[in-house]
Amino acid sequence: MGDDASLPGAGVGFSHVPAPAREDRPVSRGRFAPSPTGRLHVGNLRTAIAAWLFARSAGSEFLLRFEDLDPGTARREHEDDQRRDLEMLGLDWDGVPVRQSERIERYEDALADLVRAGRTYRCWCSRREIREAASAPHVPSGHYPGICRHLTARQIADREASGKPPALRLRTDAPDIEIVDRLHGPHREVVDDLVLRRGDGIPAYNLVVVVDDAAQSVEEVVRADDLLSSTPRHAHLYDLLGLPRPSWAHVPLVLAPDGERLAKRHGSVTLPDREALEDSPGRVVAVLTASLGLDVPEREVMPHDVLDRFSADQIVVAPWTLSPDELRDRW
Ligand code: GLU
Repeated sequence: MGDDASLPGAGVGFSHVPAPAREDRPVSRGRFAPSPTGRLHVGNLRTAIAAWLFARSAGSEFLLRFEDLDPGTARREHEDDQRRDLEMLGLDWDGVPVRQSERIERYEDALADLVRAGRTYRCWCSRREIREAASAPHVPSGHYPGICRHLTARQIADREASGKPPALRLRTDAPDIEIVDRLHGPHREVVDDLVLRRGDGIPAYNLVVVVDDAAQSVEEVVRADDLLSSTPRHAHLYDLLGLPRPSWAHVPLVLAPDGERLAKRHGSVTLPDREALEDSPGRVVAVLTASLGLDVPEREVMPHDVLDRFSADQIVVAPWTLSPDELRDRW
């Protein structure tokens, strides 16, 4: 397979995605896409508030999508809790929230397009094999070292005979892809042969996020900045599938004092935890909104109250470090 320029048109063809032409759409769209793995904590809630403010301040629609493809962690009951958390904070969304587990066909269609275009190969590697081969000096850190890319017919037959189901990887020529983030500016990464479908048959996040955001006509993706480094991969997939790239804004993470990403083990970080400490939802919104660098008029606010004042330029592009047990003072 040659490089992208050798493909007809902009990509491999993606006619089944019913995304109307952008010119025909009266409003643009943003979204929040939580994984229903438990209650949302203040880090997730802060990202949700930011995503809502970006969308609503631009007069855009705002969608809710549950990223529930991993049966090991995603649970229906968490969706209801997460929905309630968002509603308590005064966030609203347009239409019915979608679940990725009900959209498998779309992901398989996209995979079939990439397979047809010769852009994929099967990979039987275990994590250990990858770890060992990836320590070779010529392999960039975190990149798949290409073990299954050049297998002989004999080696493929041996692996097939093992009965182990293979993952499906994207065949890349290690393109160096730049994206421009609204908050972080230009960001480049070399894209490796990323997994498109896991060995257990589940389509991988990096593929499904592109398929869904394109199919749902999301034009601005606002999410936490731990995903900034994956975004050139997404941009590459948009290009390969012939889909228009959205714009991206990656909101800094909330960290705990130990420097780790904030998690439930760090203390009272969910909405019910804060309510048990007699913090009102309005107070939670005020603290989280102020932590983003926005001007908050009252001790307690709802996101609607700060909509007129919102400007992406005000957002602090550094992680917010929070000690939940000391929140009584700062809160
Ligand atoms: N589901 C991811 C999360 O909960 C977010 C992915 C995205 O916004 O693209 O962290």
